[in-house]
Amino acid sequence: MSRCLVTGGAGFIGSHLTEELLAAGHHVTVLDNLSTGRSENLKGLVGHPRLTICTGSITDQMLLAELVRDADSIYHLAAAVGVKLVADDPVRTIETNIYPTEALLQLAVQGGGKPFFLASTSEVYGKNPKEQWTEEDDLHLGPTSRPRWAYGCSKAIDEFLALAYFRKHGLPVVIGRFFNVVGPRQVGHYGMVIPRFVDQALIGGPVIVYDDGGQVRCFAHVREVVASIMSLMRTPSAQGQVFNIGSDKPWSIRQLAEAVIAKVDPAVRIEYLPYSKAYGDDFEDVRRRVPDVSRLKRTIGSAPHLSLDSILEDIIAWKRSQTTSNAS
Ligand code: UDP
Repeated sequence: MSRCLVTGGAGFIGSHLTEELLAAGHHVTVLDNLSTGRSENLKGLVGHPRLTICTGSITDQMLLAELVRDADSIYHLAAAVGVKLVADDPVRTIETNIYPTEALLQLAVQGGGKPFFLASTSEVYGKNPKEQWTEEDDLHLGPTSRPRWAYGCSKAIDEFLALAYFRKHGLPVVIGRFFNVVGPRQVGHYGMVIPRFVDQALIGGPVIVYDDGGQVRCFAHVREVVASIMSLMRTPSAQGQVFNIGSDKPWSIRQLAEAVIAKVDPAVRIEYLPYSKAYGDDFEDVRRRVPDVSRLKRTIGSAPHLSLDSILEDIIAWKRSQTTSNAS
């Protein structure tokens, strides 16, 4: 049993991680400024005897120092996330994603070398044209004139920092690059495709597919992603390494739209929208994003593999329950 600090613990992935850490018997302190995180995500845990919720910013150095002092391990998930949010506010992306990570790493070293999980992203690979991406592949970020790349670039700097702290100070860091993590509690406001498609289908459509829908992604259930994080943090050989965390089953966005429609209401239509209308003229998408998860499998013995079908069922059931509870 240990004391875990989860930054971004009221967010989509953070709240699921918080829940599982508590279920495993740990004490958890959540730090979240509730910008994209929502207190609703922790609703079921309020009053839990081993949970402390701290509403504050990861840019608050004094607060960070206090929270790290009281923690045995750190799960750093707080960040500006989502392609839409990041494209809309690149200054905030850089400020939120870079300086606080360094401050936390420094504090973790000063505290005697506290185990540190850094949440990173498949965005760091940029537009790498390979069929499947391995952790040692080159990063193909686009030009700085296109705000999308600020996100991947900021997280790549975080990774450099974390690995430098591992090499220089022996800080036990583990880095996870998330690939399209989805599940209950994810909202569509920041661009994420599945909650948007499900919301659109539930109100009778149309489901809005950007471009021609031929772009490819792999979707991993948040429950399996959280299990991977916790397992990596229990595995000493994971320290100082980067891991792709996700499913390796590819789906085109058109196939995804069809799958959502088939489950919610077969009468719903698909409409295609150019990227320029969805995100503005200086937007670039990633055409194909498929991870190689062999390093993860080798290290912890498994990788997320739940089918898209089960994932969608889980999300649709959650959305429907939300609609019912909001109406009553
Ligand atoms: N997308 C879409 N309609 C939407 C939102 C997203 O067609 O309402 C597409 C988007 O262009 C991208 C894919 O779905 O190719 C996944 O988008 P998301 O923002 O969920 O994640 P990304 O992989 O881009 O980080």
